[in-house]
This record gives sequence, C-alpha cells and structure tokens, in this order.
Amino acid sequence: MKSMKNVAIIKKDNHYTVAATKEIKKGELIFKLQGAISTVADKYSIQLGKDKHLFPLSENPLDDSSTFMFLNHSCSPNSYFNLGEDKLIALKNILVDEEINYHYCTTEYEISKPFTCHCGSNNCLREIKGYKYLSESIKYSLALYTATHLKNSVKIIS
Ligand SMILES: [Zn+2]
Repeated sequence: MKSMKNVAIIKKDNHYTVAATKEIKKGELIFKLQGAISTVADKYSIQLGKDKHLFPLSENPLDDSSTFMFLNHSCSPNSYFNLGEDKLIALKNILVDEEINYHYCTTEYEISKPFTCHCGSNNCLREIKGYKYLSESIKYSLALYTATHLKNSVKIIS
C-alpha cells in the first residue's frame, strides 16, 4: 500500500530522525501536530505558550502522533511550526530522504535539557538553551518563524 505521509521515522546510529518520503516544497505542510497538553516541559514536548506544552500521545515511532518528538534541532533548519494552526511547515524545498529539522529556540523559551549543537551550519549557536538566552540579533534573524508566545514573552513571562 502506498503511504500518503510526507515523512518517515528513521533509526540511525541509535537515534531517530524524521526524513522526507517525498519532495516537499517551501511553504508546504509537512504534518499536523497532535498531542496532549501539560503545564511542564520535557525533552520531547513542544512549548505552545506560558506553562503550556504539547506531549506526544505515544512514544511509538510508528504512531503518527509521536512524529514531532523525533525532530532534531538545527541552527539552519528546513522547517518551522505554525503553532496557531498546529502545522509543521517547510522553510526550504526538501528532497526525498532529507532529514527534517527545526530550530528548538523558535518554540522553547527555556529548554529543559540544554545541549551542545553539532549541526555544522555556519550560524551554529553551539549551546542550545532556549529563546530566553538568544541575543537580540539572533532573535531578530529567527523572528519570521518564531512562535508568537516567544515574541510576546517579554509581556507574558516575567
Ligand atoms: Zn547548530
């Protein structure tokens, strides 16, 4: 049976990645988000607002609702979340088998488990800790695809 999905979860060197199963054009929907809401974050959740985090309904890679938890971070990502519409959108043209990633600091105010990035892009930030820790110039460069709750964070989080 032919899959209608745009992505598949691939296990590579003992960790999972999300890879395109077809060409996806810039601006196109990659997948819709679904999950459960919690007030606390963990390494798999996506921040939707102040004290509001989306969790996968299962941690099974075969379950569509879990796909977002397998997205890795890149400082030069090829997708972003439109959280108002629960959508992951292509930021660039994406080829078949290409890994899909997004910039964690565009949804997370403060990352629950900060890490050192090895994405290899020219503008790699190295220490990924969350939107809160970005310089004003980096915030500005990410502004077009940063979640509204972060852009309003000066007002909502104090
Ligand atoms: Zn990086």
